[in-house]
Amino acid sequence: MTSAGLNPDDYKTAVSAATAAGDVTEEADVVVVGAGGAGMVAAITAADAGKSVIILESQAMGGGNSVRSTGGMNAAKTVYQDDNEFDEAAGVEKTLKTAAENYADNETITALAKTVQEQWDAYQAAPDGYFDSTELFELDTMIGGKGINDPELVKTLCENSADAIDWLDTIGASLHNVAQFGGASVKRIHRPVNDEGKTVAVGAYLVPILTQNVEDRGITVHYSTTANKILMSDGKAVGVQAEQKDGSTLTVNAKAVVLATGGFGANNAMVAEQNPSLDGYITTNAPGAQGQGIVMATAEDVGAATVDMDQIQLHPTVHVADDGSANLITEGLRGDGAILVNKEGQRFTDEVGTRDKVSAAENEQTDGQAWLIVDQSMYDDSAVIQGYVSKGWTVQGDTAADLAATMGVDADALSKTIEDWNQCVADENDPDFGRTSFNHQLEGTMYAILVQPGVHHTMGGLKIDSSAEVEKED
Ligand SMILES: Cc1cc2nc3c(=O)[nH]c(=O)nc-3n(C[C@H](O)[C@H](O)[C@H](O)COP(=O)(O)OP(=O)(O)OC[C@H]3O[C@@H](n4cnc5c(N)ncnc54)[C@H](O)[C@@H]3O)c2cc1C
Repeated sequence: MTSAGLNPDDYKTAVSAATAAGDVTEEADVVVVGAGGAGMVAAITAADAGKSVIILESQAMGGGNSVRSTGGMNAAKTVYQDDNEFDEAAGVEKTLKTAAENYADNETITALAKTVQEQWDAYQAAPDGYFDSTELFELDTMIGGKGINDPELVKTLCENSADAIDWLDTIGASLHNVAQFGGASVKRIHRPVNDEGKTVAVGAYLVPILTQNVEDRGITVHYSTTANKILMSDGKAVGVQAEQKDGSTLTVNAKAVVLATGGFGANNAMVAEQNPSLDGYITTNAPGAQGQGIVMATAEDVGAATVDMDQIQLHPTVHVADDGSANLITEGLRGDGAILVNKEGQRFTDEVGTRDKVSAAENEQTDGQAWLIVDQSMYDDSAVIQGYVSKGWTVQGDTAADLAATMGVDADALSKTIEDWNQCVADENDPDFGRTSFNHQLEGTMYAILVQPGVHHTMGGLKIDSSAEVEKED
C-alpha cells in the first residue's frame, strides 16, 4: 500500500467503520448457543412454551456432534423394549457381580445393585415384558463412570430417558429398534430404521427432523455466528455477544441463555492441556467442538465452575480413511456380533466392554490398531455397514482365509480365531475374555475394517445441577 502511494491508516478506518455498520442487536426471551441436538431440543421446547427464541451456530450448518451419532440413544423402560425377547440374563448377572466385586465401597452403586437385585429376582419369578429398570440404567452408567459420576445427574438422565424417546415420537422421530451396546447390561439402545427395515445412523436421522421442527416454529437461526461472550448483569446471564461471518458483532439480549455448545474434543490443544498423553490423537468430533462455551462461561465476570475436565473418553473403533479423515465405526456392530482381532489375527478383549477398556486393550496391540470383523448377515441388515463398504473402508473375503489375505494377517491364525469364536457363540461362553453378548456365529462373506482409538467424548465441562443450570465457582 505504502509503495503504491496509499496511507494504510485511511483503509483501517474504512474497514472498522464498515464492520461497525454491520453490528446488530436483537432481543429474545431465550438465546440458545449451539444448533446441535441439545440446542435444537431446548429451542423447540422453549418455543412450544410460548417463548421467542434465537439460536446462534458457529458453523455454516447445525448438527454438531449430534449429526455424527451413528449408534442410537440409550433409554430404559420404554415401550419399544417390550417388543423384544429377553435373552440378556448373563448381562444382568455380570453387572451385579461387577458391582459386588469392584464397587462394594461405593454407596450409590451398592444401593442401586441392591434395588436391581430385588427387581431381577422378582422378574425371574414372574417374567413380564422385557427386563430393564431405570436403576439398572443408573447402575450401568455409574459403573461405566467408575463410580465418579454425579449420582443426581445420572438419576435425572436415566429417569427421563423413556420420556425423551416418547417426546421424539411427538415431533416425528421414531427410535423403535432396540439393541444391546457396550456398557449396557441389556438391550437399551434405540435406533431408527429405514423403509426397508434396516437400521440407520441415528444423528443423520434425527438432525433433519429437529431442524425441520425448528423451522416450522419460525425460530431464527444465525449460522456462521460464533458466540464469544456471555453478557452479565447483577450476576445473571442476560444475553450473548457473537462474531458473524463478516466480522461484525451480533448482540442478543435475552431473559435466559442456554449454552448448548457441546464439548472440546476437536480442540486438541485443550484436550492435551487436560491429558498430555492425548496430544496429537485423532478425533471423531465435529469441527465446532472447540470448548468455546466452557471458555466463555469460565470468564472472570461469569465465574462458572467446571467439573471432570480431564475425563476424556477414547472410542476404540475409529477408522482413518484414505483422505485422512477419522470416522467413527459404530459400537452397534460389536453388540450385533462383530469381533475385534489384532494384526496377528487373534481376539484380545471382550469387544462389548466399556470404551476405555477396549481402547486400552487396543493400544497394547501391534500399531495400536485392530480389525473389526462383521459377516454377511450383519451387512444385509445394516445400511450403516453397507455405507462403510461403499465408501471403501472395508476389505472382504468369502472365507476366513480369503479375508486374512486381504487384511494381511496370518490365515491359519484368523481361521482358528473365527472357529473358536463361533464355538463361544454356540456355548454362550467366552472363557478367554468373558464376553456375555454373543448374538450369532460369523458366517459367509466377512468384512473387516481397520480401527484405532480416537478422542470421542469430553465428559467434563461446566458444572450443572439436575435442572441443567450452570453452577458458579463460588
Ligand atoms: C462420531 C460420534 C458418534 C456418536 N454416537 C453417539 C451415539 O450413537 N449415541 C449417543 O448417545 N451419543 C453419541 N455420540 C455423542 C453425541 O453425539 C453427543 O453427546 C451429542 O451430540 C451432544 O449434543 P450437543 O447438542 O450437546 O452437542 P453438539 O451436537 O456437538 O452441538 C453443539 C453445537 O454447538 C456449536 N457451537 C460450539 N461452539 C459455539 C459457539 N461459540 N457459538 C455458536 N455455536 C457453537 C457447534 O458447532 C455444534 O453445532 C456420538 C458422538 C460422535 C462424535
